[in-house]
Amino acid sequence: MDETLLNNLPGTRDLLPGDISRWQLIEDRARWIFALYGFQEIRTPLIEATELFARGIGGDTDIVGKEMYTFVDQSGRSITLRPEATASVVRAYAQHAMYRAAGVTKLYYIGPMFRHEKKQRGRWRQFYQIGAEVLGSDHPAIETEVVEMILRLLDSVGVSGRLLINSVGCEACRPSYIEILRRELRAQLPHLCDDCRRRSGANSLRVLDCKDESCQPHIDLLPAITDHLCGACADHFGRFKSYLEKAGIAYQIAPRLVRGLDYYVKTAFEIVSGELGAQNALVGGGRYDKLSEVLGGPPVQGFGFAMGLDRLVMLLSEQLVAGSSAGPDVFLAFMGTRALDRALSIARALRSRGHACHLEFAGGSLKSQMRLANKLQAKHVLIIGDEELRRDQYTIKRMGDSKQWDATVSELLEYLNAQRPPASQRSPDL
Ligand code: AMP
Repeated sequence: MDETLLNNLPGTRDLLPGDISRWQLIEDRARWIFALYGFQEIRTPLIEATELFARGIGGDTDIVGKEMYTFVDQSGRSITLRPEATASVVRAYAQHAMYRAAGVTKLYYIGPMFRHEKKQRGRWRQFYQIGAEVLGSDHPAIETEVVEMILRLLDSVGVSGRLLINSVGCEACRPSYIEILRRELRAQLPHLCDDCRRRSGANSLRVLDCKDESCQPHIDLLPAITDHLCGACADHFGRFKSYLEKAGIAYQIAPRLVRGLDYYVKTAFEIVSGELGAQNALVGGGRYDKLSEVLGGPPVQGFGFAMGLDRLVMLLSEQLVAGSSAGPDVFLAFMGTRALDRALSIARALRSRGHACHLEFAGGSLKSQMRLANKLQAKHVLIIGDEELRRDQYTIKRMGDSKQWDATVSELLEYLNAQRPPASQRSPDL
């Protein structure tokens, strides 16, 4: 067999059962917390017309310029694996006329994105984002609520981050700022990297965003956009900051934080973590009031974010992971065929009440089954031998402290229910 068939593609990976509880824990908490803020899930296709991203993200960006997985399908249409989900969500919003529904539309998504990125720690070609979009409001208080919601999620999984905010202005004030920026850029150009020089023409805002260390001192000398905002943008930014302060959310102004596209306006933000190394961004977001129109939809104000799930998993509190990596509630150890029949019916009864059970069908000696129960981190072992069958009473061993006692199935159920209420009655501990 060709060996290479047994390797996944570079930049992709298998998320194995041993790790998956970390992912599920974050996803579960996100769903729970987002619902508290009135967000509903949306699932859009992984493939879309290439043009949606070309327009929705912008032709001058790295994503559209060099990172998209694009192919022509059998009908001759150019298709792209989604590199992000905002454009898809805005498309779906317009396509299904969600603007007809009452009030603001709040949507969230969880799923894979695809970008042909350079290999680097914390960068994947198939990576996962949790994101949310608010459509139909330009109020700075909703921006604060979204930031608060993200911080609540991070806090609930034991992760802290630094909030960086900026305003990128609007079509009224940005053009004159860009003119000033270009003028000042000329003096710095000889000291800047090739990427910066390339961007200094059509995409000069993006120069501010350069991550190259040697460019930083020169970029610091460039004028800050926040000093050139029009009245409306300055007012919006001021109100956003004051809502953050009222909510007790600490922030730092980052005048070089830009989204760099025409239809991103006013608020831009990022949450970074010192523990992530060079790729330190955990969350990126902002306001995109022109995006729907750029895609041919109705005018609609939009604000949203995307959070890197892969990176969040890397930072997840080990304590939380240890607490959540649960083996079965009950391992049913049985001796002989009759005992197996009884084990199957007891497992059925326990599972129907929400208790996870494991049986090893090959059976084997009690000793070997106990050893396996240990390895699987079972919380209890239920021993079913001839004597137990006869009495219809079973020996239960609690693995944590080796305490052992006899009980009928209904006593066992009563005990297990008291230990852990069924899933339907549980809520994540926030
Ligand atoms: P963006 O959509 O580029 O604004 O990214 C939003 C967030 O997604 C970032 O802050 C990262 O946490 C995460 N992210 C973006 N690209 C990648 C990637 N290639 N691999 C892993 N995470 C990524």
